[in-house]
Amino acid sequence: MTLKHDLELVDVTKRYGSTVAVEAIQHRFQPSSYTCLLGPSGCGKSSTLRMIAGHESVTEGSILLSGRDISNLPPAQRGTAMMFQNYALFPHLSVRDNIAFSLKMKGVDVKERHIKAGEMLELVDLTALADRLPDQLSGGQQQRVALARALITRPEVLLLDEPLSALDPFLRIRMRGELKKLQKELGISFIHVTHGQDEALALADEIVVMNDAVIEQAGPARDVFNAPKTRFVAQFMGGHNVISLPNGCFAIRTDAVTVTAHKKGTLSAQVMAVEYQGTHVSLMSHISGDQEVTAIVPEAEYFTTPHQPGDQIGLHWDAKNLHPLTA
Ligand code: ADP
Ligand code: MG
Repeated sequence: MTLKHDLELVDVTKRYGSTVAVEAIQHRFQPSSYTCLLGPSGCGKSSTLRMIAGHESVTEGSILLSGRDISNLPPAQRGTAMMFQNYALFPHLSVRDNIAFSLKMKGVDVKERHIKAGEMLELVDLTALADRLPDQLSGGQQQRVALARALITRPEVLLLDEPLSALDPFLRIRMRGELKKLQKELGISFIHVTHGQDEALALADEIVVMNDAVIEQAGPARDVFNAPKTRFVAQFMGGHNVISLPNGCFAIRTDAVTVTAHKKGTLSAQVMAVEYQGTHVSLMSHISGDQEVTAIVPEAEYFTTPHQPGDQIGLHWDAKNLHPLTA
């Protein structure tokens, strides 16, 4: 596919009575890319996705796809498709008929439906299970049926609301690899809602961080991680300390803090907790002003000079790694 469809949100607001779920957000999604909408529960992610899909009305603003305003079109005419968190499969329909369901609604004849469903079954590697019912499938297989069912409409944009949250951690990691691969193969845009920063970092070309109904920061995954603009983004993305110094508020990555035995000339700290994490050890300490600083130390290095809660230690960092925050 060479057509590039770009999706744009123009001053989009969603209100439910007096609740402002989404407040005048602006964003242009990169065509043919994997975007994660990331933020804590209740920040407006699902409302945003549902407005794009047409399952929720837009209170103010507009949604453009390839330049046309789709805000008032019914879901099936938008060029988008949605995959739901609970998959919403029909329990009495076979895998094949679940996948072909939307074509049946459109009046496509049975022969054509089976051909198209067959292509989708192949795409998600479920050909052998076409005649099963949903409850005869594992969670991962059900998820692939839900994906195929959304993709059979040939959407320009696939919308996924927390698609991995029902899976166990092992399967979640495997399925996210499959989602990423599928997006690359199909060349369409995926917009994936998640509250997990690790999931967003693993999948996204671009991350859109939402907080309290607004977009707090958007950009390539590495930029958002390495250059958080606000205290919220630094804390929510994880892997950073937020430290208030006399000259302002800064973020510093936990792996950019080094630890030595306590001695003069270093920033002194008291160890509060030590967590063994396999490849590394996470050392939580307090510096003056009751501020918490976490240092991530590679495990072999840590165990040459282990520390206990209560120990006095020295913390060091290179000033060039201090990243100023605006709020
Ligand atoms: P998220 O997906 O980020 O958890 P939502 O978009 O579901 O957030 O919700 C954003 C806000 O809108 C929350 O305060 C939520 O309680 C409210 N909300 C969501 N859906 C409805 C609804 N149908 N009616 C009223 N309030 C809603
Ligand atoms: Mg949600």
